[in-house]
Amino acid sequence: MSETEMSESFDVDLFVIGGGSGGVRAARIAAGHGARVMLAEEYRVGGTCVIRGCVPKKLMVYAGRFTDEFEDAAGFGWHLETPRFDWAVLKRSRDAEVARLEGIYGRNLAGAGVEVVADRAVIEDPHTVRLVHADRTVRARFILIATGAKPVREPLIPGAELAIDSNGVFELETQPERILVVGGGYIAVEFAGVFASLGSKTTLLHRGTSLLRGFDPEIADALGEAYAKRMDLRLGQTVERLERDGSAIRATLNGGESLTVDCVLVATGRRPNVAGLGLERVGIDLDERGAIPVEADSRTRVPSIYAVGDVNGRAALTPVAIREGHAFADTVFGNKPWCVDHRLIATAVFSTPEIGVIGHNEDVARRCYGEIDVYKASFRPMKATLSGRDERVIMKILVDRASDRVVGVHVLGTDAGEIIQAVGIAVTMGATKADFDRTIAVHPTLGEELVTMRTPFVVKHPVGVG
Ligand code: FAD
Ligand code: NDP
Repeated sequence: MSETEMSESFDVDLFVIGGGSGGVRAARIAAGHGARVMLAEEYRVGGTCVIRGCVPKKLMVYAGRFTDEFEDAAGFGWHLETPRFDWAVLKRSRDAEVARLEGIYGRNLAGAGVEVVADRAVIEDPHTVRLVHADRTVRARFILIATGAKPVREPLIPGAELAIDSNGVFELETQPERILVVGGGYIAVEFAGVFASLGSKTTLLHRGTSLLRGFDPEIADALGEAYAKRMDLRLGQTVERLERDGSAIRATLNGGESLTVDCVLVATGRRPNVAGLGLERVGIDLDERGAIPVEADSRTRVPSIYAVGDVNGRAALTPVAIREGHAFADTVFGNKPWCVDHRLIATAVFSTPEIGVIGHNEDVARRCYGEIDVYKASFRPMKATLSGRDERVIMKILVDRASDRVVGVHVLGTDAGEIIQAVGIAVTMGATKADFDRTIAVHPTLGEELVTMRTPFVVKHPVGVG
């Protein structure tokens, strides 16, 4: 602690800017360690994940998944009336659940002794925060920036203002009959899947030649194949302009073709939320992606200011923000220093079919380890035998041949997220392929394939050998 921090008296020990995943966890843990904590949230406590991200999105994914269940049921002897979906009911129930969670977050913070202020906070100097609407300043021993990220609308084409971003999805009062989703990342893929399953005529348009850059190419291509059967998938295309066409929107594509839809969702990435935060007043420069550079312990170049979650650009996932907030609070206020290990992060894409991943994709694993073995299973799941659904499950295990360590697991299929969460424990512990092999299968499950693959699919050679 610097001389200022020791000698001066502060209003609070910690001021947290942002009541999302990272900020809430940091505030609660720091308060539990005895710190006097104040937290400012300018919108709704819970942040992106709870209010307009993971939670309401997953509820919509669940809603969409019933469609497959209704269709598949016939093969098992069920006769159903034609099911009818009511958007207004889903929206009402989803919004009520979000409000319930928001209340719980607020009560948990209050219960932990955190003072929550509904205001925008900006940084004045390394120890001072200004509450914009209350127009007062608060002196803090430490400041934690946990302001998250927000959607970017790129490219800036004529008529871009006619489109919505992911925040807008949660405000739609009626279900669009026809929707154009632009982008090929997590959000575009997930929402295109939701709208298609709920019965909207859906076009997913992406500039790249395959979806989900950075994911294992085989898995991404297989998702593309599955999506092409479920919606109008357009790869390698861009939108040139949007125009009003009565109550609809006309999108003109790069090839000159035009699409008429009721809604355009642009999901072309998110950028750290730092505009107007006052970073220039304390000499914090942004990196090339617009994120706040931090050390392993989330400290910025200003010793009294830390930054956790999406705003530091390390990994834009809720569990990572939560971990970083927790580590920060334990380290600074709990006398229990630890850092988050960002090397192995399990993740899921809630497309239908779903994707679960931990570790490297095949290209990266080959570059990192040279000689790897690839175990691969591609099969029709048992349920599809009676339902008749034409979709395959794909699983890949990548093994560093020298150490036998599993360095990547990729799953495309039902419950891939649940499967990867459990497998993630083994991979994080450093499991070898031999450990997978001696694990007795649970039968009949999809996951058992992960412990029954015995022969490498392709024996890979070191980089450059062939
Ligand atoms: P946030 O949760 O964004 O919280 C930041 C908070 O700071 C906000 O509430 C904001 O209002 C507030 N704020 C900003 N500036 C100020 C200021 N100056 N003063 C006061 N308050 C301020 N991740 C997953 O792991 N799984 C998922 O399934 C998943 N799904 C997602 C779906 C969508 C549609 C989106 C958009 C994101 C999803 N994410 C998912 C990502 C996840 O939501 C984020 O990684 C996570 O919320 C980041 O937490 P955070 O604390 O960094 O920021
Ligand atoms: P992503 O970075 O995942 O994807 C952005 C997509 O937009 C990419 O396909 C990218 O293409 C494309 N794109 C970028 N710029 C342009 C442009 N100018 N014109 C056309 N296309 C463009 O961002 P998302 O917004 O989907 O999600 C943000 C983050 O939120 C995710 O990365 C993830 O960390 C988190 N998230 C996590 C979820 C989960 O855990 N299930 C769910 C939702 C979000 P290209 O690949 O060619 O660059």
